[in-house]
Formats: sequence, C-alpha cells, structure tokens
Amino acid sequence: MTSPRSLLESSGAIRHGHFVLDSGLHSTRYFQAVDLLARTSVADVLFDAVAERWAGREVNVVLGANEAGSVMAWSIAHRLGAEPRFARKSADGYTLVGGAGIPEGPALVVDDITTTGGTARHLLEVVRSNGATPIGVALLATKGLFDVELGVETEVLVALDGMDAYDTADCPGCRAGEPVS
Ligand SMILES: [Zn+2]
Repeated sequence: MTSPRSLLESSGAIRHGHFVLDSGLHSTRYFQAVDLLARTSVADVLFDAVAERWAGREVNVVLGANEAGSVMAWSIAHRLGAEPRFARKSADGYTLVGGAGIPEGPALVVDDITTTGGTARHLLEVVRSNGATPIGVALLATKGLFDVELGVETEVLVALDGMDAYDTADCPGCRAGEPVS
C-alpha cells in the first residue's frame, strides 16, 4: 500500500512559489489542501488513516476550520460516528459556525496542515469555551519544522520534509522581489 507520505507528496497539492502562511511567515513551498480534496480517492485513504488512530476512543464531536479543515472534520466525524462542527476565522480568533453548539463531552480537533499549530490552538479554545472537553488534535500534515506542542494528545499523519518558513527579513522570495501569492 502506498504510504500516506507518498500519497501527499505525489498528490499535486504541494506548490512552489512565494507564499504568505497563516502564521505570517513566508515560504517557497505551499501545501494547498483543497487540491488534495479534489482527489477524493486519495483524500479518502488519508482520512481513513487519520481516523484509524482515534478508532475506539469516545469522541462526540470533531471540529475543523476553513474549507479543508471543515471537510476533514466532516470526514473524520463520519468515520468515528461523531458529529462534525465547523469554525471560521473571526476578528478575535475562530468562531463556531451554525447554531448547534458543541455538546458536552469529548471533542477532537482536526486541521489539514500546520506550521506552528496556531489554528488548532484556537480550535481547542473554541471547544473549551463551548463547555466540551478536547481529547486531542489530529493533523493531516505538519511541515516538519517545529515540534507542535498543543498541551493535548496530538497525532500527526505526515510530517512533510522539505517545507520551509521564514521571517520576511530572511525570506528568499522577498529578497528576490517576487510577488507573493
Ligand atoms: Zn517573502
């Protein structure tokens, strides 16, 4: 069976250029998760592998954010017999979308890819502020640049090699005067 790493790296979702990451850092490689989701059979295999790591655990709710994170939340919730919830970026962090709230009990936070864990950290706060208990974070991929320490059990499916992130002062794209995309 093809490994999750090979599937991700050959999915066409990793782009080369000059990018601004959610963290504010710049990079020359970018993982465009929605391009991965466009390949449903590949995404299915990866979501199976993520869900497998939480199988048998009590999970009431799976929370994700933005386009890819929300699709991932739905897909993982479906596999675990839990309810998906969705959040989006707001002025002061992330806000739950819809009127269903988050029921009490164990909740899992998911994110497609992270540099520093910022989105997951916000989503853990959304879970807690809604009175539920975060039992962990499932990450499809990290950039393998930092240890992502979130204070809860964290499962990373693939730590990608060769990703980069720079302060603007050190960014090769900025230095070359390339426009950001
Ligand atoms: Zn730059």
